[in-house]
Amino acid sequence: MDCYNLTSMTWKEVEESLKTVQLAIIPIGAHEQHGPHMVESCDAVLAEQMAKKLGQRMYPYAWVTPTINMGISPHHINFPGTISLQPTTLIAVLKDMISSLKYHGIKKFLLLNSHGGNQSTLNVASSMLTNELEVEIYYAKTTASARKSFEKYVTSSLFGHSCEREVSEALYLAPELVRMDELEKGDIREDGRWKQLRPGKAIQGFYFYEEMTKNGCIGDATKASKEIGQHIVEESLDNLTEELNKLLNLKADIPY
Ligand SMILES: [Zn+2]
Repeated sequence: MDCYNLTSMTWKEVEESLKTVQLAIIPIGAHEQHGPHMVESCDAVLAEQMAKKLGQRMYPYAWVTPTINMGISPHHINFPGTISLQPTTLIAVLKDMISSLKYHGIKKFLLLNSHGGNQSTLNVASSMLTNELEVEIYYAKTTASARKSFEKYVTSSLFGHSCEREVSEALYLAPELVRMDELEKGDIREDGRWKQLRPGKAIQGFYFYEEMTKNGCIGDATKASKEIGQHIVEESLDNLTEELNKLLNLKADIPY
């Protein structure tokens, strides 16, 4: 076993793992449109793959839990197939998961999130539930920390959704998510919400994605490659591993 992945362990194996495990990694994604060239499970699959790779690096100190494969996506609802949770639903699911895991002896949690629309809810969830359940909860975007790779390898001026960055990550972690013969650049609408995002403007919390892009993409997926994805993913895993080692007071030379 090179990763304590709860979904493929028996209770005996889980019991044994508790001799070393101090933290649970909870992968969180979304089920939403990703333009004409990526399938709707994209965020959930990427979060799960990242969590498993991080779980390998943090072995034998971390569990990887089942993935929460839907998230906060009301802004994508006008594209067919999107399923969105209410923020209160996501917080309730997290509360029940964390309560169960605390019952088994875990006190530290990393919410490993791949979907930008979940971030504000995870901020609320972590501050609420840290106090309520008396545990330590952290949240992080899967690949947001790969600053060197973004600078060095990503050439699009705009990225954000089903773009050069995200499609590259998928080509490295789960290429079956991508329709290579359908790759499209974002069909950006210059009017609408963009104007509201300028400094000093009042920002409307609720909006629809089609106000910003006609085909559901922001960025240029045609520039994506597996190599770019590998740089982004591996740099992010280095950073997340370093961060978790600090949180768990582990030395940097743990075996992985
Ligand atoms: Zn996504």
